[in-house]
Amino acid sequence: MSKTFKGIGSSEGIAIAKAYILNEQPVEDFIKNDKISDPEKEIEKVNKAIEETKTDLKKLQVIALEKLGKEKAEIFEAHLSILEDPAIIDDIKQLIKNDKLNVSKAMFDVSKKYIEMFEMMEDAYFKERAADVRDVSERMLKHSLGLRIIDLANISEEVIIVAEDLTPSQTAQLNPKMVKGFLCNMGGRTSHAAIMARSLEIPAVLGLKTILSDVKEGQLIAIDGLTGDVEVEPKDKKTWLKKQEEFNVTKEELKKFINKGTVTKDGYEDFVLESNIGSTNDIESVLENGSEGIGLFRSEFLYMNNTHFPTEEEQFTAYKKVIEKMAGKITIIRTLDIGGDKKLSYFEFPHEMNPFLGYRAIRFTLDRKDIFKTQIRALLKASAFGPLGIMFPMIATVDEFKQAKEFTLETKKELEKEGIKVGKDLQIGMMVEIPAAAVNADKFAKYSDFFSVGTNDLIQYSMAADRMSENVAYLYQPYNPSILKLLKLTIDGAHKHKKWVGMCGEMAGEPNAIPLLMGLGLDAFSMSATSIPRARSIISKLTLKETQELAEKALECETTKEVLDLVKKVIKL
Ligand code: PEP
Ligand code: MG
Repeated sequence: MSKTFKGIGSSEGIAIAKAYILNEQPVEDFIKNDKISDPEKEIEKVNKAIEETKTDLKKLQVIALEKLGKEKAEIFEAHLSILEDPAIIDDIKQLIKNDKLNVSKAMFDVSKKYIEMFEMMEDAYFKERAADVRDVSERMLKHSLGLRIIDLANISEEVIIVAEDLTPSQTAQLNPKMVKGFLCNMGGRTSHAAIMARSLEIPAVLGLKTILSDVKEGQLIAIDGLTGDVEVEPKDKKTWLKKQEEFNVTKEELKKFINKGTVTKDGYEDFVLESNIGSTNDIESVLENGSEGIGLFRSEFLYMNNTHFPTEEEQFTAYKKVIEKMAGKITIIRTLDIGGDKKLSYFEFPHEMNPFLGYRAIRFTLDRKDIFKTQIRALLKASAFGPLGIMFPMIATVDEFKQAKEFTLETKKELEKEGIKVGKDLQIGMMVEIPAAAVNADKFAKYSDFFSVGTNDLIQYSMAADRMSENVAYLYQPYNPSILKLLKLTIDGAHKHKKWVGMCGEMAGEPNAIPLLMGLGLDAFSMSATSIPRARSIISKLTLKETQELAEKALECETTKEVLDLVKKVIKL
């Protein structure tokens, strides 16, 4: 029987496909302490689990080689060597023979011992081995327990994934040809899974709270990633297919804006439309959608999709690749914005009650200058290949910005002394995503070459509403007059010192926000590449004057609804 649900539309598009339930209980929950009586039989099970794991890893190695290149695929070589390590395998067999442990308990105990041993080592190389052992032993344990092993990258039929939550790295693995959409109990428009879904053009509805228990594996689901509507076992599949067709037609029509200039109805040509990216793989989409630059490269994904802190050379290669592909258009790379919901498998952050308010982003890198130095050196070296903006995340005080800028300039001198070329077209800027920076923007603008407003965080901190929580998602209110006032302060503060202001938070690509932001005087809009044609079409239909009048009136409103009503009068989308 058909059932409908309403969640938060997080990545537009219509999808109709079977449910793929992603409900992973920790593997530890399945391990029993039962003793065994036949060690030989148990050892056979060890050998079988090893062989099955090897087969998996070899397959993954081939896929990684195709999708991610030789360097990334090498990780599987390291994983395969763990399965051939006589010390580990002998330890498992000894526990079975001597202590009569069952296969999974023996594997679990041995891998735990090695993980702890590697984690305690000082040397970064050995610390990283802990993550490798964890990965391989989990796969081996699952085989020994007969549990399903989920390789999201390997889904081979069209599905809609249904999960509690998707981590950014799980989302990055999704193949849009097979994964037609996803639904999560948790999250909202600005959680990183949603942001990545938009760049992969996968429709997504988040914040559904109970969807994981409401849907069964294989049930047909239809979803609307714009409105947040979900229908399980749809009554009227034809209506959904029609909606899908309409969506595709509009998308096709917008394509004519890809190669046009960004010009208002009255001929103003200075707005710039840029893209947000998370990896070098996203550049194709940036180029295909007529982007005028990269307004945000979230460099943390380079760290997250890795087993170690990326080296200077690894980072340099990635940054250079992006800058070169942009062929003279600006690339803004944000320094490591880790912490909050963005974790590293190879680094343990201190436990904090409120990680979003804690040790993260610039707070972390100013504290760990060794890690910061590697990144800044790589960025400066890459700047020789085209225009670059280096941008610091989560700046709260003028002092933090000055420290980070000073550190960058000292590093630049160091490189020049070493005879290494640094580019001339280099700007050093900051994110405005903490209200303290927005209200005092003119003070920061004296030192910063540019601002980029991170509305995802600016709204969460201004409203004191966790961006990951579906329970307070209603407080994500980009159109709230309080937020508009913060934006005005930011933009006016920058312009007072003749600096430019971009926005790389999700608000920049929202159709209803664009007229307001134009009127407030925003200079650059950075969004998922696929949103660019629509943004350009909206700009082309408005005069600068009418957007300025709109912004002025909106600032006087009391509620989000009043603002949106005003916007709707101006644009007939
Ligand atoms: C933001 O906060 O708006 C932003 C662009 O950064 P992130 O979403 O990565 O926190
Ligand atoms: Mg942010």
